[in-house]
Amino acid sequence: MKKIEDYLVEQGLISSSRLNWAKVKQNETGIPLYRILIEEGIVSEEVYFKNLSSMFSKDFINLDMANLNRELIELFPAQLMEKYNFIPIERVLDTVKIATFEPFNIYMVQEIEELTGYKVEIFICNITDLLNIKKALGITIKEDLALKTLKKIDLESVAEKVKEGYGNDDVIEEVDLEDYDVESSDAPVVVLVNKLIYDAVKEGATDIHIECFEKKLNVRYRIDGSLKKVMVIEKNAQEAIISRLKIISDLDITERFIPQEGRFKMKVMDTQIDFRVTFLPSMFGQNLSIRIFNKKKTPLAFDDIGMSDYQKNICAEALKKKYGLILVVGPTGSGKTTTLYTMLGHINKEDIKVITIEDTVEYRMDGIHQIPVRVNREDPSKSLTFATGLKAILRQDPNVIMIGEIRDEETAKIAINAALTGHLVLSTIHANTSINVLSRLKHLGVSKELISDALELVVAQRLVRKTCKECQGDVEEKKSCHFCKSTGVNGRIGVFEVLQVDKTIKGKIADDVPGVHLYNYLREERDWKDLLQDATNKKNNGVIGQEEVDSLTI
Ligand SMILES: [Zn+2]
Repeated sequence: MKKIEDYLVEQGLISSSRLNWAKVKQNETGIPLYRILIEEGIVSEEVYFKNLSSMFSKDFINLDMANLNRELIELFPAQLMEKYNFIPIERVLDTVKIATFEPFNIYMVQEIEELTGYKVEIFICNITDLLNIKKALGITIKEDLALKTLKKIDLESVAEKVKEGYGNDDVIEEVDLEDYDVESSDAPVVVLVNKLIYDAVKEGATDIHIECFEKKLNVRYRIDGSLKKVMVIEKNAQEAIISRLKIISDLDITERFIPQEGRFKMKVMDTQIDFRVTFLPSMFGQNLSIRIFNKKKTPLAFDDIGMSDYQKNICAEALKKKYGLILVVGPTGSGKTTTLYTMLGHINKEDIKVITIEDTVEYRMDGIHQIPVRVNREDPSKSLTFATGLKAILRQDPNVIMIGEIRDEETAKIAINAALTGHLVLSTIHANTSINVLSRLKHLGVSKELISDALELVVAQRLVRKTCKECQGDVEEKKSCHFCKSTGVNGRIGVFEVLQVDKTIKGKIADDVPGVHLYNYLREERDWKDLLQDATNKKNNGVIGQEEVDSLTI
């Protein structure tokens, strides 16, 4: 295809020597050639763009503030208009007319069509006109309105639920717009995304996964630790769903090739809930997972989380102390935070000042100060990390400090120091068993003497699935059990291993007694119960099944 500049030379509108000069300048500066031609007065803007439009067989349009459709413009994401230098001018049936001075970008039409669901018709306009208009409108462009009514999706066809996901045919719900707290003017994509989130919260899911395949999207919820397929969505809704979630998470919707992470809040069933969304590029689009931080009601009781009387009493004893370190350990998703909040609920009194610092505040508790860690990517020195937050907290003179996680040397040292200077410190640390904590702390640069002095209690734990109370998980009876949706399990419960660090144990830690010797001592001399024995007890009491005991990874 002929280039516009050669066409202009052919038409005698610019000389080839001036064009060559402009090309040299383009190489030196990287400024687009047409801008140099216009800005240097080699060709007038009007001549350039009128010839461009005839060359591309597109109509030229004079943009005029008075004739703009502001409502239409507000529907388009500002980032997208910025990226491709265009402005929508009119919508006719399923076509949207746009004006641009850069019609050559081959991705522009494709991307606008994918994002909006409308066909794009290009008009050519002057640079000056478009830039002036965008400048004048700049502040009025509302990104959260983007795509609100543009995307056309047939809701009945996209929200085709997968039957096996629900077990019983009569459990499958019809998609009914009346059920959702949305205005009737909301676009189907808004309704669909709201429904996905609403249902997930209602079902008690912890995560929503939306996975892109060649011809469809799968939606799965993680409930009680297991993934359950709940919906199959047509491929044509993919971009709209992703864009909608990016818009509410305040992310760049035009970025598709790097992983992104964002957060949003939404009110579901009268509760304000935080969500964290991660977008990951894949072969067939951006897979996304949404973590649901449903702020649960507190305080919980030790009985609720599954502790035995013996374990509960040891915890209560340690929580009476004025200072020292209490650690809860286990893999991600093993309920450590729930245990920490159960402990905080146990000691939270008016005359005690409690401050927490956490990755994300998952529980709300009255009477305590909860601080979320904040990462400032542009300026890391302005980030609030566990370590910097702790230093600030210590100046507030708290009695009890809860640290979401000890994962680096600096945090470990501040935590130990705080525990030895009159504070009760509660935290989690990455370790498999209570005894592993000792080597983990040493690995983080804490001496055996300091561990021996500071450590008062270690709770190791896992989460397992509870046997359904209605059908007892019976192979035959569960088939017709609505209570557990024929799964035989309902809800989860903790399995615990509680290590009270008394004088004798402190002595063994200071003497650097190897972990295996410590374990043998506890088992042989004290009839100590580890994770596996606690799980076996729960199985013998009919609380959990053998499968759950076997699933423990220690
Ligand atoms: Zn059941």
